[in-house]
Amino acid sequence: MEAYSDIGLVGLAVMGENLALNIERQGFSVAVFNRTGEKTTRFLAGRARGKALAAAYSLPELTGLLRRPRKIMLMVKAGRPVDEIIGQLLPHLEAGDILLDCGNSHFEDTRRRNARLAQAGVLFLGVGVSGGEEGALNGPSIMIGGNEEAYRELAGLFNRIAARAAGTPCAFYFGPDGAGHYVKMIHNGIEYADMQLIAESYHLLKAAVGLEAEEMAEVFRTWNEGELESFLIEITAEILARPDEESGRPLVEMIRDQAEQKGTGKWTCQSALELGVPAPTITEAVYARGLSALKAERVEAARAFPGPNPRYAGDKEKFLAALRDALYAAKICSYAQGFALLRAAGQAYGWELDLSRAALVWRSGCIIRAGFLDRIAEAYGKSPGLVNLMLDPFFRERLNRAQAGWRRVVASAKELGIATPALSSSLDYFDGYRTADLPANLIQAQRDYFGAHMFERTDRPGKFHVVWQDEV
Ligand code: NAP
Repeated sequence: MEAYSDIGLVGLAVMGENLALNIERQGFSVAVFNRTGEKTTRFLAGRARGKALAAAYSLPELTGLLRRPRKIMLMVKAGRPVDEIIGQLLPHLEAGDILLDCGNSHFEDTRRRNARLAQAGVLFLGVGVSGGEEGALNGPSIMIGGNEEAYRELAGLFNRIAARAAGTPCAFYFGPDGAGHYVKMIHNGIEYADMQLIAESYHLLKAAVGLEAEEMAEVFRTWNEGELESFLIEITAEILARPDEESGRPLVEMIRDQAEQKGTGKWTCQSALELGVPAPTITEAVYARGLSALKAERVEAARAFPGPNPRYAGDKEKFLAALRDALYAAKICSYAQGFALLRAAGQAYGWELDLSRAALVWRSGCIIRAGFLDRIAEAYGKSPGLVNLMLDPFFRERLNRAQAGWRRVVASAKELGIATPALSSSLDYFDGYRTADLPANLIQAQRDYFGAHMFERTDRPGKFHVVWQDEV
Protein backbone atom coordinates (compact mmCIF):
# COMPACT_ATOMS: atom_id res chain seq x y z
CA MET A 1 0.00 0.00 0.00
CA GLU A 2 1.26 3.47 -0.86
CA ALA A 3 2.56 5.38 2.20
CA TYR A 4 0.81 8.62 3.05
CA SER A 5 2.74 11.91 2.86
CA ASP A 6 3.31 14.04 5.97
CA ILE A 7 2.25 17.30 4.35
CA GLY A 8 0.70 18.64 1.16
CA LEU A 9 1.83 21.75 -0.69
CA VAL A 10 -0.19 23.71 -3.24
CA GLY A 11 1.59 26.12 -5.60
CA LEU A 12 4.84 25.31 -7.35
CA ALA A 13 6.24 28.70 -8.28
CA VAL A 14 9.69 29.67 -6.87
CA MET A 15 8.60 29.82 -3.23
CA GLY A 16 6.54 26.63 -3.28
CA GLU A 17 9.19 24.52 -5.01
CA ASN A 18 11.91 25.68 -2.66
CA LEU A 19 9.82 25.25 0.45
CA ALA A 20 8.86 21.72 -0.64
CA LEU A 21 12.56 20.84 -1.10
CA ASN A 22 13.45 22.39 2.28
CA ILE A 23 10.70 20.42 4.06
CA GLU A 24 11.71 17.17 2.34
CA ARG A 25 15.36 17.72 3.24
CA GLN A 26 14.31 17.93 6.89
CA GLY A 27 12.89 14.39 6.74
CA PHE A 28 9.21 14.99 5.90
CA SER A 29 7.46 13.47 2.90
CA VAL A 30 5.58 16.00 0.77
CA ALA A 31 2.75 15.67 -1.76
CA VAL A 32 2.61 18.58 -4.20
CA PHE A 33 -0.06 20.07 -6.45
CA ASN A 34 0.01 22.95 -8.89
CA ARG A 35 -2.90 24.35 -10.91
CA THR A 36 -0.86 23.95 -14.09
CA GLY A 37 -0.02 20.27 -14.03
CA GLU A 38 2.97 20.45 -16.39
CA LYS A 39 4.88 22.38 -13.72
CA THR A 40 4.29 19.52 -11.28
CA THR A 41 5.57 16.99 -13.82
CA ARG A 42 8.61 19.16 -14.59
CA PHE A 43 9.38 19.63 -10.90
CA LEU A 44 9.12 15.92 -10.10
CA ALA A 45 11.30 15.00 -13.06
CA GLY A 46 13.83 17.76 -12.37
CA ARG A 47 14.73 19.29 -9.00
CA ALA A 48 12.58 16.85 -7.02
CA ARG A 49 13.89 13.72 -8.71
CA GLY A 50 14.67 10.91 -6.25
CA LYS A 51 13.24 12.80 -3.27
CA ALA A 52 10.34 11.93 -0.95
CA LEU A 53 7.89 14.00 -3.01
CA ALA A 54 4.65 12.72 -4.55
CA ALA A 55 2.72 14.42 -7.34
CA ALA A 56 -1.01 15.10 -7.31
CA TYR A 57 -2.89 16.39 -10.34
CA SER A 58 -6.13 17.32 -8.60
CA LEU A 59 -7.01 18.57 -5.14
CA PRO A 60 -9.02 15.42 -4.25
CA GLU A 61 -5.98 13.38 -5.27
CA LEU A 62 -3.80 15.57 -3.05
CA THR A 63 -6.02 15.20 0.02
CA GLY A 64 -6.13 11.43 -0.62
CA LEU A 65 -2.33 11.26 -0.44
CA LEU A 66 -2.07 12.80 3.04
CA ARG A 67 -1.84 11.31 6.50
CA ARG A 68 -4.69 12.42 8.84
CA PRO A 69 -5.15 14.99 10.20
CA ARG A 70 -4.15 16.43 6.86
CA LYS A 71 -1.78 19.37 6.73
CA ILE A 72 -1.85 21.43 3.55
CA MET A 73 0.36 24.41 2.86
CA LEU A 74 -0.77 26.99 0.31
CA MET A 75 2.01 28.83 -1.53
CA VAL A 76 -0.03 30.49 -4.27
CA LYS A 77 -0.41 34.08 -5.42
CA ALA A 78 -1.89 36.20 -2.63
CA GLY A 79 -5.46 37.49 -2.94
CA ARG A 80 -8.28 35.78 -4.80
CA PRO A 81 -6.29 32.59 -5.69
CA VAL A 82 -6.08 31.76 -1.97
CA ASP A 83 -9.87 31.98 -1.60
CA GLU A 84 -10.37 29.94 -4.77
CA ILE A 85 -8.09 27.15 -3.58
CA ILE A 86 -9.69 27.14 -0.12
CA GLY A 87 -13.14 26.89 -1.74
CA GLN A 88 -12.00 23.98 -3.92
CA LEU A 89 -10.24 22.18 -1.05
CA LEU A 90 -12.90 22.54 1.60
CA PRO A 91 -15.27 19.77 0.36
CA HIS A 92 -12.34 17.33 0.58
CA LEU A 93 -11.25 18.23 4.12
CA GLU A 94 -12.46 16.95 7.49
CA ALA A 95 -12.75 18.61 10.89
CA GLY A 96 -9.31 18.68 12.47
CA ASP A 97 -7.41 19.03 9.18
CA ILE A 98 -4.94 21.92 9.07
CA LEU A 99 -4.64 24.49 6.33
CA LEU A 100 -1.67 26.88 6.25
CA ASP A 101 -1.55 29.94 4.03
CA CYS A 102 2.15 30.71 3.66
CA GLY A 103 1.86 33.46 1.02
CA ASN A 104 1.91 37.22 1.54
CA SER A 105 -1.76 37.51 2.40
CA HIS A 106 -3.27 40.66 3.85
CA PHE A 107 -3.88 40.10 7.57
CA GLU A 108 -7.55 41.11 7.22
CA ASP A 109 -8.03 38.37 4.61
CA THR A 110 -6.41 35.94 7.04
CA ARG A 111 -8.81 37.01 9.79
CA ARG A 112 -11.75 36.48 7.46
CA ARG A 113 -10.52 33.07 6.25
CA ASN A 114 -9.78 32.00 9.80
CA ALA A 115 -13.40 32.68 10.81
CA ARG A 116 -14.76 30.89 7.73
CA LEU A 117 -12.59 27.78 8.23
CA ALA A 118 -13.26 27.64 11.96
CA GLN A 119 -16.94 27.17 11.12
CA ALA A 120 -16.00 24.09 9.06
CA GLY A 121 -13.81 22.77 11.90
CA VAL A 122 -10.66 23.20 9.80
CA LEU A 123 -7.70 24.62 11.74
CA PHE A 124 -6.16 27.56 9.94
CA LEU A 125 -2.73 29.16 10.16
CA GLY A 126 -1.68 32.39 8.44
CA VAL A 127 2.07 32.15 8.06
CA GLY A 128 4.43 34.89 6.91
CA VAL A 129 7.50 33.45 5.20
CA SER A 130 10.37 35.82 4.56
CA GLY A 131 13.71 35.49 2.84
CA GLY A 132 12.71 35.15 -0.81
CA GLU A 133 13.51 32.03 -2.77
CA GLU A 134 16.89 31.50 -1.12
CA GLY A 135 15.29 31.67 2.33
CA ALA A 136 12.50 29.28 1.34
CA LEU A 137 15.10 26.73 0.24
CA ASN A 138 17.69 27.08 2.98
CA GLY A 139 15.84 28.50 5.97
CA PRO A 140 13.33 31.35 6.04
CA SER A 141 12.16 33.50 8.90
CA ILE A 142 8.67 32.25 9.77
CA MET A 143 5.96 34.37 11.42
CA ILE A 144 3.02 32.24 12.48
CA GLY A 145 -0.51 33.21 13.45
CA GLY A 146 -3.81 31.39 13.74
CA ASN A 147 -5.08 28.32 15.54
CA GLU A 148 -2.72 27.50 18.42
CA GLU A 149 -3.48 23.78 18.40
CA ALA A 150 -2.52 23.65 14.71
CA TYR A 151 0.67 25.52 15.54
CA ARG A 152 1.60 22.98 18.22
CA GLU A 153 1.05 20.18 15.71
CA LEU A 154 3.42 21.83 13.25
CA ALA A 155 5.93 23.51 15.57
CA GLY A 156 8.51 20.74 15.00
CA LEU A 157 8.35 21.19 11.23
CA PHE A 158 8.58 24.99 11.45
CA ASN A 159 11.58 24.79 13.75
CA ARG A 160 13.38 22.38 11.45
CA ILE A 161 12.87 24.31 8.19
CA ALA A 162 13.48 27.80 9.62
CA ALA A 163 16.68 29.84 9.63
CA ARG A 164 18.62 29.85 12.89
CA ALA A 165 20.10 32.73 14.83
CA ALA A 166 22.44 31.90 17.72
CA GLY A 167 21.04 28.35 17.65
CA THR A 168 17.40 29.45 17.96
CA PRO A 169 15.00 28.76 15.07
CA CYS A 170 13.56 31.95 13.57
CA ALA A 171 10.00 30.63 13.72
CA PHE A 172 7.57 32.01 16.28
CA TYR A 173 3.86 31.85 16.94
CA PHE A 174 2.51 35.38 17.46
CA GLY A 175 -1.16 34.91 18.24
CA PRO A 176 -4.57 34.18 16.74
CA ASP A 177 -5.88 34.72 13.19
CA GLY A 178 -3.91 37.44 11.33
CA ALA A 179 -1.08 37.97 13.86
CA GLY A 180 1.58 36.16 11.81
CA HIS A 181 0.72 37.92 8.57
CA TYR A 182 0.63 41.25 10.39
CA VAL A 183 4.17 40.74 11.72
CA LYS A 184 5.26 39.78 8.18
CA MET A 185 3.60 42.92 6.78
CA ILE A 186 5.50 45.10 9.26
CA HIS A 187 8.70 43.28 8.30
CA ASN A 188 8.06 44.34 4.71
CA GLY A 189 7.18 47.92 5.71
CA ILE A 190 10.47 48.22 7.59
CA GLU A 191 12.22 46.65 4.59
CA TYR A 192 10.85 49.46 2.38
CA ALA A 193 12.18 52.05 4.84
CA ASP A 194 15.59 50.38 5.20
CA MET A 195 16.00 50.21 1.43
CA GLN A 196 14.94 53.84 0.92
CA LEU A 197 17.30 55.08 3.65
CA ILE A 198 20.19 53.21 2.04
CA ALA A 199 19.19 54.54 -1.40
CA GLU A 200 19.18 58.13 -0.09
CA SER A 201 22.60 57.60 1.47
CA TYR A 202 23.88 56.30 -1.88
CA HIS A 203 22.37 59.36 -3.59
CA LEU A 204 24.18 61.70 -1.20
CA LEU A 205 27.47 59.81 -1.57
CA LYS A 206 27.17 60.05 -5.35
CA ALA A 207 25.69 63.49 -5.95
CA ALA A 208 26.89 65.46 -2.90
CA VAL A 209 30.25 63.84 -2.10
CA GLY A 210 31.00 62.82 -5.69
CA LEU A 211 32.20 59.27 -4.98
CA GLU A 212 32.61 56.62 -7.67
CA ALA A 213 30.70 53.34 -7.35
CA GLU A 214 33.74 51.37 -6.12
CA GLU A 215 34.44 54.06 -3.46
CA MET A 216 30.81 53.89 -2.35
CA ALA A 217 31.05 50.11 -2.16
CA GLU A 218 34.00 50.57 0.21
CA VAL A 219 31.97 52.99 2.38
CA PHE A 220 29.13 50.46 2.71
CA ARG A 221 31.63 47.65 3.38
CA THR A 222 33.09 49.69 6.24
CA TRP A 223 29.63 50.56 7.61
CA ASN A 224 28.77 46.88 7.53
CA GLU A 225 31.57 46.23 10.01
CA GLY A 226 29.98 48.52 12.61
CA GLU A 227 26.57 49.03 14.17
CA LEU A 228 24.88 49.23 10.74
CA GLU A 229 25.81 45.61 10.04
CA SER A 230 22.94 44.07 8.09
CA PHE A 231 22.08 42.02 5.04
CA LEU A 232 20.86 45.07 3.09
CA ILE A 233 24.05 47.09 3.72
CA GLU A 234 26.13 44.03 2.80
CA ILE A 235 24.36 43.46 -0.53
CA THR A 236 24.48 47.20 -1.29
CA ALA A 237 28.30 47.05 -1.14
CA GLU A 238 28.25 44.04 -3.48
CA ILE A 239 25.82 45.70 -5.89
CA LEU A 240 27.91 48.89 -6.08
CA ALA A 241 31.06 46.88 -6.82
CA ARG A 242 29.51 44.93 -9.70
CA PRO A 243 30.50 46.10 -13.22
CA ASP A 244 28.14 45.77 -16.17
CA GLU A 245 29.59 43.14 -18.51
CA GLU A 246 28.28 44.94 -21.61
CA SER A 247 29.31 48.52 -20.96
CA GLY A 248 32.08 48.06 -18.38
CA ARG A 249 30.39 50.74 -16.24
CA PRO A 250 29.01 50.03 -12.74
CA LEU A 251 25.90 47.90 -13.29
CA VAL A 252 23.87 50.00 -10.84
CA GLU A 253 24.30 53.04 -13.12
CA MET A 254 22.80 51.08 -16.00
CA ILE A 255 19.60 50.28 -14.10
CA ARG A 256 16.54 52.47 -14.73
CA ASP A 257 15.62 54.50 -11.63
CA GLN A 258 12.00 53.37 -11.28
CA ALA A 259 11.29 51.26 -8.19
CA GLU A 260 8.42 48.80 -8.32
CA GLN A 261 6.29 47.50 -5.49
CA LYS A 262 3.90 44.67 -4.79
CA GLY A 263 1.78 46.28 -2.07
CA THR A 264 2.94 45.16 1.37
CA GLY A 265 4.54 48.58 2.03
CA LYS A 266 1.26 50.25 1.10
CA TRP A 267 -0.64 47.91 3.43
CA THR A 268 1.66 48.95 6.29
CA CYS A 269 0.89 52.64 5.65
CA GLN A 270 -2.83 51.90 5.40
CA SER A 271 -2.70 50.10 8.73
CA ALA A 272 -0.76 53.01 10.26
CA LEU A 273 -3.50 55.41 9.15
CA GLU A 274 -6.21 53.01 10.31
CA LEU A 275 -4.65 52.64 13.77
CA GLY A 276 -3.61 56.31 14.03
CA VAL A 277 0.04 55.38 14.54
CA PRO A 278 2.56 57.76 12.94
CA ALA A 279 4.86 55.86 10.57
CA PRO A 280 6.31 58.62 8.36
CA THR A 281 9.61 56.93 7.48
CA ILE A 282 7.84 53.85 6.14
CA THR A 283 5.20 55.95 4.39
CA GLU A 284 7.79 58.22 2.76
CA ALA A 285 9.60 55.10 1.53
CA VAL A 286 6.42 53.99 -0.23
CA TYR A 287 5.80 57.48 -1.64
CA ALA A 288 9.42 57.61 -2.85
CA ARG A 289 8.83 54.50 -4.97
CA GLY A 290 5.70 56.17 -6.36
CA LEU A 291 7.68 59.33 -7.21
CA SER A 292 10.44 57.28 -8.82
CA ALA A 293 7.84 55.73 -11.13
CA LEU A 294 7.10 59.19 -12.62
CA LYS A 295 10.25 59.08 -14.78
CA ALA A 296 8.98 61.08 -17.75
CA GLU A 297 7.56 63.80 -15.50
CA ARG A 298 10.79 63.96 -13.49
CA VAL A 299 12.90 64.33 -16.63
CA GLU A 300 10.74 67.27 -17.71
CA ALA A 301 10.73 68.82 -14.23
CA ALA A 302 14.53 68.51 -14.06
CA ARG A 303 14.70 70.88 -17.03
CA ALA A 304 12.03 73.20 -15.56
CA PHE A 305 13.64 73.53 -12.12
CA PRO A 306 17.45 73.49 -12.28
CA GLY A 307 17.95 73.88 -8.50
CA PRO A 308 21.22 74.43 -6.63
CA ASN A 309 24.62 72.83 -7.31
CA PRO A 310 24.37 69.45 -5.52
CA ARG A 311 28.10 69.18 -4.71
CA TYR A 312 28.97 69.40 -0.99
CA ALA A 313 31.79 71.89 -0.38
CA GLY A 314 32.72 70.92 3.21
CA ASP A 315 34.94 68.23 4.73
CA LYS A 316 34.12 64.91 3.05
CA GLU A 317 35.32 62.66 5.86
CA LYS A 318 33.19 64.53 8.38
CA PHE A 319 30.21 64.29 6.04
CA LEU A 320 30.67 60.52 5.71
CA ALA A 321 30.73 60.11 9.51
CA ALA A 322 27.61 62.30 9.81
CA LEU A 323 25.85 60.32 7.10
CA ARG A 324 26.57 57.06 8.89
CA ASP A 325 25.01 58.53 12.04
CA ALA A 326 22.03 59.87 10.08
CA LEU A 327 21.41 56.47 8.51
CA TYR A 328 21.61 54.71 11.85
CA ALA A 329 19.36 57.20 13.64
CA ALA A 330 16.75 57.16 10.87
CA LYS A 331 16.85 53.36 10.91
CA ILE A 332 16.06 53.43 14.62
CA CYS A 333 13.07 55.67 13.81
CA SER A 334 11.73 53.33 11.14
CA TYR A 335 11.98 50.34 13.50
CA ALA A 336 10.41 52.41 16.28
CA GLN A 337 7.47 53.07 13.94
CA GLY A 338 7.20 49.41 12.93
CA PHE A 339 7.22 48.25 16.54
CA ALA A 340 4.75 50.96 17.57
CA LEU A 341 2.45 49.57 14.88
CA LEU A 342 2.90 46.03 16.19
CA ARG A 343 2.07 47.24 19.67
CA ALA A 344 -1.07 49.10 18.56
CA ALA A 345 -2.27 46.25 16.32
CA GLY A 346 -1.72 43.73 19.11
CA GLN A 347 -4.01 45.80 21.30
CA ALA A 348 -6.57 46.53 18.58
CA TYR A 349 -6.91 42.92 17.42
CA GLY A 350 -6.40 41.18 20.76
CA TRP A 351 -3.19 39.38 19.75
CA GLU A 352 -0.92 40.14 22.72
CA LEU A 353 2.08 40.34 20.39
CA ASP A 354 5.45 39.66 21.98
CA LEU A 355 7.59 42.45 20.49
CA SER A 356 10.82 40.91 21.68
CA ARG A 357 10.01 37.79 19.63
CA ALA A 358 9.32 39.95 16.57
CA ALA A 359 12.90 41.22 16.79
CA LEU A 360 14.20 37.68 17.36
CA VAL A 361 12.31 36.18 14.42
CA TRP A 362 13.92 38.69 12.04
CA ARG A 363 17.50 37.98 13.09
CA SER A 364 18.11 35.45 10.34
CA GLY A 365 16.54 34.18 7.12
CA CYS A 366 14.85 37.46 6.16
CA ILE A 367 15.70 40.62 4.27
CA ILE A 368 15.90 42.97 7.28
CA ARG A 369 18.25 40.74 9.29
CA ALA A 370 20.64 43.02 11.12
CA GLY A 371 22.97 43.06 14.06
CA PHE A 372 20.93 45.59 15.97
CA LEU A 373 17.82 43.36 16.20
CA ASP A 374 19.49 41.76 19.23
CA ARG A 375 19.36 45.20 20.89
CA ILE A 376 15.69 45.58 20.03
CA ALA A 377 14.91 42.10 21.40
CA GLU A 378 16.78 43.07 24.57
CA ALA A 379 14.85 46.35 24.87
CA TYR A 380 11.42 44.67 24.67
CA GLY A 381 12.61 41.67 26.67
CA LYS A 382 13.51 44.01 29.57
CA SER A 383 10.46 46.25 29.15
CA PRO A 384 7.58 44.54 27.32
CA GLY A 385 5.46 47.67 27.86
CA LEU A 386 8.02 50.05 26.26
CA VAL A 387 5.86 52.60 24.44
CA ASN A 388 8.45 53.58 21.85
CA LEU A 389 11.79 51.98 20.98
CA MET A 390 13.47 55.42 20.96
CA LEU A 391 12.94 55.63 24.72
CA ASP A 392 14.93 52.47 25.49
CA PRO A 393 18.17 53.56 27.24
CA PHE A 394 20.46 52.07 24.57
CA PHE A 395 18.62 53.66 21.64
CA ARG A 396 18.09 56.91 23.54
CA GLU A 397 21.83 57.26 23.99
CA ARG A 398 22.52 56.39 20.33
CA LEU A 399 19.96 58.93 19.09
CA ASN A 400 21.40 61.61 21.33
CA ARG A 401 24.89 60.88 20.00
CA ALA A 402 23.76 60.72 16.35
CA GLN A 403 21.50 63.75 16.20
CA ALA A 404 24.11 66.43 15.47
CA GLY A 405 25.41 64.59 12.38
CA TRP A 406 21.88 63.64 11.34
CA ARG A 407 20.80 67.31 11.41
CA ARG A 408 23.90 68.33 9.41
CA VAL A 409 23.15 65.75 6.71
CA VAL A 410 19.47 66.66 6.39
CA ALA A 411 20.22 70.41 6.39
CA SER A 412 22.92 69.91 3.75
CA ALA A 413 20.59 67.80 1.61
CA LYS A 414 18.00 70.59 1.69
CA GLU A 415 20.61 73.20 0.73
CA LEU A 416 21.98 71.04 -2.07
CA GLY A 417 18.52 70.22 -3.40
CA ILE A 418 18.86 66.45 -2.92
CA ALA A 419 15.63 64.69 -1.95
CA THR A 420 15.98 62.67 1.24
CA PRO A 421 12.37 61.97 2.24
CA ALA A 422 13.08 59.07 4.60
CA LEU A 423 16.13 60.63 6.32
CA SER A 424 14.29 63.96 6.69
CA SER A 425 10.91 62.63 7.79
CA SER A 426 12.64 60.46 10.38
CA LEU A 427 14.24 63.56 11.83
CA ASP A 428 10.85 65.29 11.91
CA TYR A 429 9.37 62.24 13.61
CA PHE A 430 12.16 62.36 16.18
CA ASP A 431 11.83 66.11 16.73
CA GLY A 432 8.05 65.95 16.93
CA TYR A 433 8.20 63.07 19.38
CA ARG A 434 10.68 64.84 21.65
CA THR A 435 8.67 68.10 21.69
CA ALA A 436 6.63 68.50 24.87
CA ASP A 437 4.63 71.46 23.49
CA LEU A 438 3.55 71.06 19.88
CA PRO A 439 1.48 73.65 17.99
CA ALA A 440 -1.54 71.33 18.01
CA ASN A 441 -3.21 73.79 20.43
CA LEU A 442 -3.64 76.14 17.49
CA ILE A 443 -5.18 73.36 15.40
CA GLN A 444 -7.66 72.65 18.19
CA ALA A 445 -8.54 76.35 18.32
CA GLN A 446 -9.06 76.44 14.54
CA ARG A 447 -11.26 73.32 14.69
CA ASP A 448 -13.33 74.90 17.42
CA TYR A 449 -13.49 78.19 15.47
CA PHE A 450 -14.93 76.74 12.24
CA GLY A 451 -16.59 73.56 13.47
CA ALA A 452 -17.35 73.95 17.20
CA HIS A 453 -15.29 70.77 17.76
CA MET A 454 -14.36 71.88 21.29
CA PHE A 455 -10.95 71.75 22.98
CA GLU A 456 -9.41 70.77 26.30
CA ARG A 457 -7.71 73.40 28.47
CA THR A 458 -4.27 73.13 30.04
CA ASP A 459 -5.45 74.40 33.44
CA ARG A 460 -8.59 72.34 34.17
CA PRO A 461 -10.39 69.22 32.90
CA GLY A 462 -13.39 69.23 30.59
CA LYS A 463 -14.31 70.12 26.99
CA PHE A 464 -14.74 73.78 26.04
CA HIS A 465 -16.16 75.80 23.21
CA VAL A 466 -15.73 79.49 22.61
CA VAL A 467 -17.84 81.78 20.43
CA TRP A 468 -15.03 83.07 18.21
CA GLN A 469 -17.00 85.58 16.13
CA ASP A 470 -19.49 88.18 17.14
CA GLU A 471 -23.02 87.39 16.05
CA VAL A 472 -23.81 89.11 12.74
P1 NAP B 1 3.45 33.78 -7.24
O1 NAP B 1 3.95 34.27 -8.55
O2 NAP B 1 3.01 34.78 -6.24
O3 NAP B 1 2.21 32.76 -7.51
C1 NAP B 1 2.31 31.76 -8.49
C2 NAP B 1 1.66 30.48 -8.00
O4 NAP B 1 0.28 30.70 -7.66
C3 NAP B 1 1.67 29.40 -9.07
O5 NAP B 1 1.85 28.15 -8.46
C4 NAP B 1 0.30 29.56 -9.68
O6 NAP B 1 -0.14 28.41 -10.35
C5 NAP B 1 -0.52 29.79 -8.44
N1 NAP B 1 -1.81 30.41 -8.73
C6 NAP B 1 -2.05 31.66 -9.17
N2 NAP B 1 -3.38 31.87 -9.30
C7 NAP B 1 -3.99 30.70 -8.96
C8 NAP B 1 -5.32 30.29 -8.86
N3 NAP B 1 -6.32 31.13 -9.17
N4 NAP B 1 -5.57 29.03 -8.45
C9 NAP B 1 -4.57 28.19 -8.15
N5 NAP B 1 -3.28 28.52 -8.18
C10 NAP B 1 -2.99 29.77 -8.58
O7 NAP B 1 4.53 32.77 -6.62
P2 NAP B 1 5.74 33.00 -5.59
O8 NAP B 1 6.59 34.16 -6.01
O9 NAP B 1 6.38 31.66 -5.43
O10 NAP B 1 5.02 33.41 -4.24
C11 NAP B 1 4.09 32.59 -3.57
C12 NAP B 1 3.56 33.35 -2.37
O11 NAP B 1 4.65 33.66 -1.50
C13 NAP B 1 2.92 34.70 -2.71
O12 NAP B 1 1.90 34.99 -1.81
C14 NAP B 1 4.05 35.68 -2.51
O13 NAP B 1 3.60 37.01 -2.23
C15 NAP B 1 4.74 35.06 -1.31
N6 NAP B 1 6.17 35.41 -1.17
C16 NAP B 1 6.96 35.49 -2.26
C17 NAP B 1 8.31 35.81 -2.10
C18 NAP B 1 9.23 35.87 -3.30
O14 NAP B 1 10.39 36.27 -3.12
N7 NAP B 1 8.80 35.47 -4.50
C19 NAP B 1 8.83 36.05 -0.83
C20 NAP B 1 7.99 35.92 0.28
C21 NAP B 1 6.66 35.61 0.09
P3 NAP B 1 0.11 28.26 -11.95
O15 NAP B 1 1.48 27.69 -12.09
O16 NAP B 1 -0.94 27.32 -12.39
O17 NAP B 1 -0.01 29.62 -12.57
